[in-house]
Amino acid sequence: MRYKEHQNFIDSLRKFLAQKVTPHVNEWEEKGDFPSEIFKTLGEAGYLGLLINEDSGGVGGDYELAAAWCETFGEVPSVGFTVGVNMHSLVVGHALDRFGSKRLKDIWLTPAITGEKIGAYAFTEPGAGSDLASLRTTAKRDGDSWVINGAKTFITNGCRASFVLLLCRTDPTKGYNGFTTFVVDTKLPGFSVSKRLKKLGWLASDTAELTLENVRVSNDDILGEEGQGWIQSSESLSWERLMLTLTSIGGAKECLKSTIQYCKDRVAFGKRLIDIDLIQEILIDMKRVILDGEILCDKAIALLQKGEDNRGICAAVKRLVCDELVELADKAIQLHGGYGYTTEFPPERWWRDLRLMPIGGGTREVLGNLVGKEIFGKG
Ligand SMILES: Cc1cc2nc3c(=O)[nH]c(=O)nc-3n(C[C@H](O)[C@H](O)[C@H](O)COP(=O)(O)OP(=O)(O)OC[C@H]3O[C@@H](n4cnc5c(N)ncnc54)[C@H](O)[C@@H]3O)c2cc1C
Repeated sequence: MRYKEHQNFIDSLRKFLAQKVTPHVNEWEEKGDFPSEIFKTLGEAGYLGLLINEDSGGVGGDYELAAAWCETFGEVPSVGFTVGVNMHSLVVGHALDRFGSKRLKDIWLTPAITGEKIGAYAFTEPGAGSDLASLRTTAKRDGDSWVINGAKTFITNGCRASFVLLLCRTDPTKGYNGFTTFVVDTKLPGFSVSKRLKKLGWLASDTAELTLENVRVSNDDILGEEGQGWIQSSESLSWERLMLTLTSIGGAKECLKSTIQYCKDRVAFGKRLIDIDLIQEILIDMKRVILDGEILCDKAIALLQKGEDNRGICAAVKRLVCDELVELADKAIQLHGGYGYTTEFPPERWWRDLRLMPIGGGTREVLGNLVGKEIFGKG
């Protein structure tokens, strides 16, 4: 059984979600936002420090615990909400824990674990997404401080964030060593949210365009050291890809569960849909997609646990699984007939929400190139 050791954790998380989260989700989706206070509720329950070392105030859990969390939390029918929380705790918090100084941890990580401060990770720019190395946000040294100018876009939690891990170019002559991550307080003069983006799905999530005009930060605000931004980003993105896939598998399982129920309830030509051979075949294939996804994720998690290089496998897992999860949600709509196209039943939201997965955190094409290089070599 998967996550056998974490079964009690999963049971109590499901109880927590049923009480404090799921009943509110439809309202959040309709409103196009979720209340930031939910971070405090999650923090009080100890859920925001799962992958953070005990020395830094976290739970000290491993990647398997984080995976169990992602799949279970992913069952909540609002991927914008679940990924917003996971970006904060599992990606931003994890990066701060791994690379941050004691000062940065005291200022940002401690309150991030309690949910009092909310974090975002900003790589993407209006002119640089897949081709991240062409990013144009610069941080220029000025005495003891740095002055940041530029723009970021599509930033999850961007409107509500108290701080942002911001990937900047610090030395254009140094190639991949010319990037540095700064931990930027969003209250600083010159930092602004220029736009809240309207989207097809992830409706409850705030996705922002950010502008930085002469934002002044200090040397102490550098995450790790100057010049380490690229390698930190690659590592964070790699884990983010797996987090997105695991969270999506949790959602896809719920989508399949409700579809099976619908096929049991719906009668056509005097038969329940579930008793029609062709429909059973479709459902079996949906189940196969989930099983394949679980196996691939388990493999990637096992490598992460061993501390082995995981960039290729995380890219491959996201590339292979997420496309199929979108198709799964599409089949769920089809099996619901006309009702599948309405907002009365779950599949349409799962489809809209899962549709982002072959784009966000690395597109299917770009990850395909990366996997291709791993398999066939560079030359
Ligand atoms: C809701 C949402 C939340 C997001 N959250 C965050 C966040 O929190 N932080 C953050 O930094 N970013 C975030 N992103 C950004 C996301 O990671 C990028 O959208 C993604 O990496 C793709 O970049 P792009 O949009 O610039 O597309 P582009 O890079 O412009 O790509 C456009 C198309 O060209 C294709 N393409 C590009 N290069 C190649 C190539 N070499 N070979 C083949 N095809 C290619 C792509 O696959 C794609 O189909 C978010 C995006 C969305 C929509």
